[in-house]
Amino acid sequence: MREKNCIFCKIIAGEIPARTIYEDEEFKVILDANPAAKGHALIVPKEHCANLYEISEELLAKAAKLAKKLAVHMTEVLKCDGFNLLQNNGEVAGQTVFHFHMHLIPRYEGMKNDDLLNWTHEQFSDQEQDEICQKLKLD
Ligand code: 5GP
Ligand code: ZN
Repeated sequence: MREKNCIFCKIIAGEIPARTIYEDEEFKVILDANPAAKGHALIVPKEHCANLYEISEELLAKAAKLAKKLAVHMTEVLKCDGFNLLQNNGEVAGQTVFHFHMHLIPRYEGMKNDDLLNWTHEQFSDQEQDEICQKLKLD
């Protein structure tokens, strides 16, 4: 259920303090300690699972439902102009805490962090894109 040295398991157990904006039997939603924007929050399941590969479909579906509810609520309260829902898996993808979580990031017109998700674009030929598309087809 919990992992020994996991910081989010410790937060859920109440061993490390966190600012909690929502809690139920299965989730805790906390403010990020290093927010990218005002109100940046994290949906954290109470059950330890490292990432998207490990989380059950059922729990993920509940997290997605909660994300919608919180995005609507936070947008109303914060009067933000947009919203990013972000979820990192693996070190190479930017994951630093290996307990599944979804980032709820309110976005504001003119905010200085406007390069938050500004990735550069890679070039692939039409043939390469066709091959990737073929490989990825899921029946
Ligand atoms: P990741 O990079 O794994 O997707 O996101 C981890 C997030 O957890 C980071 O945005 C980081 O600021 C946040 N974080 C790390 N340690 C703590 C902590 O002890 N408390 C809280 N509230 N957030 C944390
Ligand atoms: Zn954990």
